[in-house]
Amino acid sequence: MRHPFVCRPVISIPSESPMRSVDVVIVGAGAAGIGMARALQDVPGLECEILESGRIGESFRRWPVQTRFITPSFYSNPFGLADLNAVDATSSPAIFAGAEHLSGPQYADYLSFIVEAAELSVTCDCKVLDVTRCANGRFELETEQGGYETRFLIWACGEYQFPDLKPFPGGQWCLHYADVGDWQSLQPGHYTVIGGYESGVDAAANLVARGHSVRLLVRRATWDLADIYDPSVALSPYSQERLRDLQRSGRLEIVYGADIVQVSRDEAGALRVHAADGRYWDSQTPPVLGTGFLKGGGARQIAELWSWDDQGRICLGSADESLRTPGLFLVGPQVRHPPLIYCFIYKFRQRFSLIAREIAERLSLEYLPHEQAGSWGPFGNAECCEGCEC
Ligand SMILES: Cc1cc2nc3c(=O)[nH]c(=O)nc-3n(C[C@H](O)[C@H](O)[C@H](O)COP(=O)(O)OP(=O)(O)OC[C@H]3O[C@@H](n4cnc5c(N)ncnc54)[C@H](O)[C@@H]3O)c2cc1C
Repeated sequence: MRHPFVCRPVISIPSESPMRSVDVVIVGAGAAGIGMARALQDVPGLECEILESGRIGESFRRWPVQTRFITPSFYSNPFGLADLNAVDATSSPAIFAGAEHLSGPQYADYLSFIVEAAELSVTCDCKVLDVTRCANGRFELETEQGGYETRFLIWACGEYQFPDLKPFPGGQWCLHYADVGDWQSLQPGHYTVIGGYESGVDAAANLVARGHSVRLLVRRATWDLADIYDPSVALSPYSQERLRDLQRSGRLEIVYGADIVQVSRDEAGALRVHAADGRYWDSQTPPVLGTGFLKGGGARQIAELWSWDDQGRICLGSADESLRTPGLFLVGPQVRHPPLIYCFIYKFRQRFSLIAREIAERLSLEYLPHEQAGSWGPFGNAECCEGCEC
């Protein structure tokens, strides 16, 4: 049985309330959680509940107002190629928003639309506070809206709400990208931005566009990684294009090989950014951190239920199940199977069907995928071009 779309305010449930029992609980209603729930609809009879601490697409709603998607959206679905930013094979953020590079709220609204259209069951304002794996192999969840009990738990808490605020000593004197609501609200001045990947370049672009001058400190130029074709590592063409415009503005200085190890603040409040090689730069304004998020992101909330490698990353089984806790799965940008990094939506969505099939098998339920598997492939649905003269 599928529940209607629910998005209700926080209510306090008395502690003696019975636990709600459901086959699968997904924690997080972002791109990963919503996409995963859609994939689980291919298992008829399976009950699935999404628990979300804020609103649907909460992280996207928190993006700086000027931020846009880097990967373009395009309605290529009729030709068997899913929209690059869609969470299922049939919908298209491009069609939904009438935009190629969506803003955060536009994308969050697209996710809300999917929830409503597909009749997914989402409980908002329902932060999961604690997870216990019981002796019988099931999970008990303590939430802001009472208890849940489930056989399968899918963790989809993303990274954005878990910024690394102290990547080096003195990080507390800086302003993290994820804490900027609107670049327009920053005081006029000269800014120092640390980090040469997507968020660092986006910060620099937004500051320069508002008339500020910027010093961008980069450890290595991710736009020069000609030998690396993976967009998880190399700067996207969208951002490279912006960077070229920035360089023409005359208000951007790029310092290469700057491995930042500390930000210091003297008694008068003057800030200084220090590199490993002894160079330093004084900054009149709090340096902006485009240095990323905590390794493992929101999965750190249940850190003891995962196995971690020596670089602080989560190790997963072939169906993205925890190696330490059977029945617990991870979806989203933290999923890695070295050398593959699934940090973009078009990458991590490829894993949804794998988990859905695995859960169906364990429950001896049918797995009936609605979409042609080819529609997710790099060249789309092979049947599209059979006998086609295009
Ligand atoms: C500036 C920027 C630009 C980007 N551009 C692109 C792009 O162009 N293309 C692309 O593919 N990717 C892009 N990304 C990456 C993309 O946004 C992320 O990979 C994606 O949002 C991850 O989705 P998610 O569902 O895993 O995480 P989120 O969207 O963060 O969703 C996680 C959800 O879990 C909820 N949650 C957390 N903890 C709990 C809890 N304890 N209980 C209940 N709920 C909880 C949160 O409120 C949140 O709604 C960009 C990221 C940034 C920061």
